[in-house]
Amino acid sequence: MSSGKGRILSFFGGLVLTEATITHNEALGPYRRLSLRGEGLQAKTFEPGDKLQLLLPGDDVRTYTPITWARGETSLLVYLHGETTPAPRWAQAAAPGDILRFVGPQRSLSLPPGPVVLIGDETSIAVAAALHLARPGQVKALLSVADEHAARAAAAAVGLPSPTLLARETNTDAHHLAIAAAARAAGAPGRSIGLCGGAALIQGVRAALRAGGVEGVKVKAYWAPGKVGLD
Ligand SMILES: Cc1cc2nc3c(=O)[nH]c(=O)nc-3n(C[C@H](O)[C@H](O)[C@H](O)COP(=O)(O)OP(=O)(O)OC[C@H]3O[C@@H](n4cnc5c(N)ncnc54)[C@H](O)[C@@H]3O)c2cc1C
Repeated sequence: MSSGKGRILSFFGGLVLTEATITHNEALGPYRRLSLRGEGLQAKTFEPGDKLQLLLPGDDVRTYTPITWARGETSLLVYLHGETTPAPRWAQAAAPGDILRFVGPQRSLSLPPGPVVLIGDETSIAVAAALHLARPGQVKALLSVADEHAARAAAAAVGLPSPTLLARETNTDAHHLAIAAAARAAGAPGRSIGLCGGAALIQGVRAALRAGGVEGVKVKAYWAPGKVGLD
């Protein structure tokens, strides 16, 4: 179903949208890595943690995280959390030669320079990889995931070799406390902390960090149950 934002972006077209061509679409279990190339990308600046707002078929708008940005090329890692919503449908069907239009890069999760603990879920692998590639050796990624094997393979494919993966069965208090403990063991609060992904994970982990005396966490919700195209 088209959104108001999508119809407006579509109406203003080239005034606000950058165009890129899909050059590669790689299936990585429940993920897709999409490579994009376009002359318009060269004029744009990028920082790890930035977002793109993609105008998908049907004028739906969904937000994704560029992993790298150089020589007119970028790549995305799309988590296929289901089969029927616009983003997974588009990501599975996208083929080399297809045109993708988007707004951005725009600032989203900005973390100060230096060592980082990045906490998230499947939707956060891209931002963790972007940070790791820009700050080699300074990023500890703690990811709550349903399928550790698939997440490890997808992370490695996008340049994030050794995230700490915490198996998510349900978003229980114990899971959130375990993540907060892992964050403290990884050096928080001496490192800056970014917390992104699903809203329940964010709420639970932030509370567990606060209970352990860790404040000043930079937070960005990437999705929430029942919310469409959260941004
Ligand atoms: C700044 C930002 C950066 C992001 N970067 C990435 C990224 O790099 N890679 C990535 O995969 N995602 C990323 N996301 C998350 C992605 O935009 C959402 O998951 C988006 O809602 C997917 O669109 P959809 O069409 O599948 O679902 P929607 O139509 O938006 O939502 C339909 C239903 O699916 C649920 N849903 C959405 N996402 C999930 C999920 N992950 N797990 C379970 N249920 C879900 C919604 O809560 C809703 O109930 C980012 C989001 C933001 C705000």
